[in-house]
Amino acid sequence: MVVTRFAPSPTGYLHIGGLRTALFSYLWARRNGGKFVLRIEDTDQGRNSEAAAQAIVEAFEWIGLEHDGEILYQSQRGEVYGQYIQQLLDEGKAYRCYMSKEELDALREEQTARKERPRYDGRYRDFDGTPPEGVAPVIRIKAPQSGTITVRDGIKGEITFNVDDILDDFIIARSDGSPTYNFVVAVDDALMGINEVIRGDDHLSNTPKQMIVYEALGFEMPKFYHVPMIHNQSGKKLSKRDGATDVMAYKEMGYLPEALLNFLVRLGWSHGDQEIFSRDEMLQLFSPADINKSASIYNVEKLDWLNGHYIKNADNTLLAELLEHHDIFLLSHDKKEIILDEVKERAKTLKEMATLIKEILETPTQYDEKAVKKAFKADAVEVLNLFSARLAEKEGLHLPTDYHGVMEAVVAEKEIGFGKIGQPLRIALMGRLTGPGLDSIMAIIGREETLSRIEKAIAVITAELAQ
Ligand code: GLU
Repeated sequence: MVVTRFAPSPTGYLHIGGLRTALFSYLWARRNGGKFVLRIEDTDQGRNSEAAAQAIVEAFEWIGLEHDGEILYQSQRGEVYGQYIQQLLDEGKAYRCYMSKEELDALREEQTARKERPRYDGRYRDFDGTPPEGVAPVIRIKAPQSGTITVRDGIKGEITFNVDDILDDFIIARSDGSPTYNFVVAVDDALMGINEVIRGDDHLSNTPKQMIVYEALGFEMPKFYHVPMIHNQSGKKLSKRDGATDVMAYKEMGYLPEALLNFLVRLGWSHGDQEIFSRDEMLQLFSPADINKSASIYNVEKLDWLNGHYIKNADNTLLAELLEHHDIFLLSHDKKEIILDEVKERAKTLKEMATLIKEILETPTQYDEKAVKKAFKADAVEVLNLFSARLAEKEGLHLPTDYHGVMEAVVAEKEIGFGKIGQPLRIALMGRLTGPGLDSIMAIIGREETLSRIEKAIAVITAELAQ
């Protein structure tokens, strides 16, 4: 059974890059009928792990990724780590090191002066004398002193590290007894039965150390996949300046979970040249073996395009539900379908939809000056008045086509082009020259509101023009 995990360090929110590796891990576990578990790596920071976990759970809920079982908190597992440290001490695979900070600093200086890589020299590795007084020891693991360590990576292939270049007997417990990062990651992954570790390649340099811990404790090694980072357009690691890194910010900006997942799955993974993946398709097709070897590029236009696609194809009731988060309440609006059909074609985000819906539903308070100058000509008032008169006498106006009929009748009666009525009418209804179809707007706001907007526009604009 494939067991994968997501192991975020609490930073207060779920990072977009983290969500991508979580998604990969989730898809791979689910595709294999396996398990996907969540572990909060909260040993080093003094932050509130409960709040950090809460933020992550909230983001997972929004995006719709379920994890299996309880969330594991490293901060609650001190005893477990202590047992394994003791085991290594008992077996002679780890030892206490009493080197003081001054001694370590001196060693480092000497090594640097000799142009050597600063590293612990192993002086307490086989120590059996009397420990110096007043020094609380750290615990170091016996690492190989020469040779190579090879990570067999499911994405990058074999990566061989020279022990000389990267290792020494590294610390697994600090002088206060607290275990160190690479030690707890390896212990937890092993005890949680994680057999496929999918994570960012910024962790690649930790892997040899974790492998040493696995070996020392006799744990079975998992399969590793180190996923190349997400870069910005200039090839640098994605940062806040390039776009939001907090997953929940994407909810606020009006992205649909499907669109964000689709966007993320394509950051570093592909299946032919297919761009659109439903969740089911991702589940059927995803394999970490197909993850690209090079970094992927964050491109917000692509996300917008995908989001537009998912909005356009979304069920109107679902959109109405999602729009409530953006202060638009349409679920029981009698024009819900017309509004959403009209607006979903034109917006890239729910937020844009919400803005457009507000603009349709609210009487304009201002009229765009340039638009007025351009399209509210001398004859506009006359045309609009005629249109209002024809509208007022017409019964049974419901659909956009009903309103369109009245516009056509006026155009025929006055023998004018469509723009002669369309443009001033648009200014009267929306306050500007852009926006959704006029006939839809009128069907949405209804006859009375249409008449009142025309009347108001004529009054305000003629008064302005008279000044
Ligand atoms: N806690 C690490 C992080 O948030 C991930 C550790 C791992 O995946 O092994 O970057």
